[in-house]
Amino acid sequence: MVEPVGVYISVPFCKAKCTFCNFASGVFGAGRMQQYVERLGGEIRGVHAEAGRIGASLPRAVDTIYFGGGTPSLLSAQQFRRIFQELRSEFDLATDAEITLECAPGQLADETLDELLRQGMNRISFGVQSFMDQEAAAVGRLHTRAQCEAEITRASAAGVREINVDLIAGLPHQTEQSWQYSVRQAIASGVSHISVYLLEVDEDSRLGREMLEQGSRYSAMAVPDEDRAAEWYQQACDLLGAAGVQQYEISNFARPGHCSRHNLKYWRRQPYVGFGLDAHSMLLADEGAVRFANTSDLDRYLGEESPPNPFRLLEFERDATDGEVDIVGRSEAFEESLFLGLRLNEGVDLSVLRGQFGDGLLQDTMPALVEVRDAGLLELSSVRIRLTPKGRLVSNEVFSRLLIHAAA
Ligand code: SF4
Repeated sequence: MVEPVGVYISVPFCKAKCTFCNFASGVFGAGRMQQYVERLGGEIRGVHAEAGRIGASLPRAVDTIYFGGGTPSLLSAQQFRRIFQELRSEFDLATDAEITLECAPGQLADETLDELLRQGMNRISFGVQSFMDQEAAAVGRLHTRAQCEAEITRASAAGVREINVDLIAGLPHQTEQSWQYSVRQAIASGVSHISVYLLEVDEDSRLGREMLEQGSRYSAMAVPDEDRAAEWYQQACDLLGAAGVQQYEISNFARPGHCSRHNLKYWRRQPYVGFGLDAHSMLLADEGAVRFANTSDLDRYLGEESPPNPFRLLEFERDATDGEVDIVGRSEAFEESLFLGLRLNEGVDLSVLRGQFGDGLLQDTMPALVEVRDAGLLELSSVRIRLTPKGRLVSNEVFSRLLIHAAA
């Protein structure tokens, strides 16, 4: 049976720009947003023909859709109707498909929510970041704690069963006490899923530049140091675990049976196709897999000759280098399976890895795995490998240690 594909739709519009963010998103007028939706439509249309052209397998069956951003909840009911029309003409959506909307609290109109519910949206991810008003305001979020709580209640009353709350450890003005307050509020809200991130400040963001220059306008001096944020992350793991919201990935926690099906596809290396600005895709092909990405330049995305599609845009991007779509080779696919799988608490099943890639690549990696295990960062048995709690805290270090060995 052909495995259904996951669909990602990027909506790079925000009502205000967060101080730490330099993501390809921005504040644009209604005209630009409408132009974008039309481009998206063109990109979705005809995508199967293009997949065939580069030898990638793009099933019609879709079982997850994820609207990410940016703040996709800013699109109108009519714009969502149009996107779903295009999706349904190009794909067969499973009746129980998981359909997620990323949403900034207070930025989802009633009419849009009603339309999305009609279209089958059943999961909302709220970018709360902190339940402390001072902390949210310091990074440019426009909501208050009271608004976040009201929004969760509203979504839940409207019948949205799956609700996620994003939290960030390490925000300006955050203290151990205020962090624990936010984690406890998220638990008390009864949502089924909580994501916990460490603050990542892009050095080209307003906060990033100010941290380098030691300024005070964006609260750079009030950003806690990384070690404290890492401690708070660990506290969140403990608090959430004790409340039955189990960690299943480095940044993700869910009540039993409520993991994000779409995001699991990324970590399990299952196929997904992305549409819109800076959207990435990975599809299976005869050679193994192909990966491609859209431009992150909005003018270029909107200005491409029609009809745009991810494959053409990628080739456009890569013409300057080698003019090829990125074919994932066998050893690269092995590394991806290993590193993505290690992000999950369940880790990597070695028999599955051997079944896909044979024993040779695993044996080559064994000395590095043993070294990382001896440092207390990895559990290694004859059937499975997984990060220890300490390993999850320094996962990037673990991955680079394994990569250095693989490259040697
Ligand atoms: S963090 Fe999210 S909401 Fe904030 S500016 Fe970046 S994309 Fe927009």
